[in-house]
Amino acid sequence: MDTIKDILSKTALSKEEIIRLLSLKNKEDNDLLIKKAYSIKLNSIGNKVFLRGLIELSNICKKNCFYCGIRSGNTNINRYSLSDDEVLQLVNFAQEKHLKEIVLQSGEVNNDDFVLRITKLITKIKKITSPDFRITLSLGEQSFETYKKWFDLGAQRYLLRIETSSEDLYKKIHPDNKIHNYNIRLQCLENIRKAGYQTGTGVMIGLPFQTIENLADDLLFMKKIDIDMVGMGPYLEHKDTPLYKYKDTLLQLNERFNLSLRMIAVLRIMMPYINIASTTALQSIVPMGREQGLKAGANVLMPNLTPGKYRGSYLLYENKPCIDEDSDECIDCLENRVKMAGEKIEYDIWGDSKHFIKRTKNE
Ligand code: SAH
Ligand code: SF4
Repeated sequence: MDTIKDILSKTALSKEEIIRLLSLKNKEDNDLLIKKAYSIKLNSIGNKVFLRGLIELSNICKKNCFYCGIRSGNTNINRYSLSDDEVLQLVNFAQEKHLKEIVLQSGEVNNDDFVLRITKLITKIKKITSPDFRITLSLGEQSFETYKKWFDLGAQRYLLRIETSSEDLYKKIHPDNKIHNYNIRLQCLENIRKAGYQTGTGVMIGLPFQTIENLADDLLFMKKIDIDMVGMGPYLEHKDTPLYKYKDTLLQLNERFNLSLRMIAVLRIMMPYINIASTTALQSIVPMGREQGLKAGANVLMPNLTPGKYRGSYLLYENKPCIDEDSDECIDCLENRVKMAGEKIEYDIWGDSKHFIKRTKNE
C-alpha cells in the first residue's frame, strides 16, 4: 500500500486516496498533508490573502433548510433588511479600507421586487466604485435571466454552495419540496457559470448522516465541474433547527475542525489555482481557525462588514464570532492575525481566481 508521502507526491488523486487523506488520524501524516497543500499554494498563488468584505444584506428567507438558523420556520429571530444607503455606506467603508470587493449575501428571496431591488442596488454600487471593484453575489437560487441580468450590470462572481454533492444526503437536510431540490440547485450552478460569473460553491463538513465518502465525492464534484472558487467549513448546529436533535451523533468540534482543514488541504492539492475561502465557521471553533485555514491552503478571507446591530440576527449557526463588533475592529484584527500566520493581505487588488482566468482564456 502507498504511504502518505507517496500519495502526496501524485498530481491526480483517486477517490480511495482522497478518503485516506481525509481520514488521517496520526499527527505526523496530518502535518505532512497540511504542509504539502501550503507549499502548493505558495507555488500557485504565493503567501497572499485576498479580502472580500461580507455584507449580510438580509435574513429574510423563503427557504427552510434544516440546518440554518435563519430558515423561514424560525420565529425566534427579528427579520431585517439593510437599506440601500446602509449598503452604499459599507461599500464606501470597504473602499476606504482598500478592499476591492464586497460579497452581498442574504436569505433566499426571488420575487420580482427582490430581483428589481438587487438590480438597482448593483447599479448604485457600480456608480460609486472604480471599474475594477468586484461584486460577489450570494443570493441563492434565481432564474438564468436574473443571473444574467446581474452579471451584465457588473456583478462578477457568484457563490452558491451545493451544501453536499450527495442527492441522498441533500434530501435528508432539506424539506422535500420544489424549492429545496437538488437538481434545481445543480442547474443553478450551471446557469451561474453559463451567465459568465466566476463561480463558487461549497459544502458543510460534519453534517449529520454525512460520511467521509460523501466528502471525498464533494471534492471530486468540485473538480469535475471545474469550479473557480470554494467556500466550505464545518457544519455547526443551531438549536432552532430540525437537525439540532442529531447533535449527539456529530463529530466532536475539534474533529470537525481538523476534518475541515484536511478538506481544504486536499482540495488545494487537487485544484492549485482556485480561490479557497477560510470561513468564519472555522473561527467559531478555534479562535485562530481561519489563519489555520490559510496554512492549509486557503487564500481568501471575508471580514464581516455588516453593522453590529444586525449581526445577532444573521446567525446561520450558534457561537458565530465577532457578533458584537463593528467592521473596523474586524479588519484591523484580521491584519495582525494574518501577519502572525506568515501571510500577507493584498490590498487594492481584486484577486480573481487564477483558475477562472486560465479557464476563460482556453474557452
Ligand atoms: N441563502 C443563500 C446564502 C446564505 S446562506 C444560500 O443558501 O445559498 C450561506 C451558507 O451558510 C449556506 O450555503 C450554508 O452552507 C451555510 N450555513 C447555513 N447554516 C449553517 C450551519 N448551521 N452551519 C454551517 N454553515 C451553515
Ligand atoms: Fe435560507 Fe440560505 Fe439559510 Fe437555506 S441556507 S435557510 S436558503 S439562508
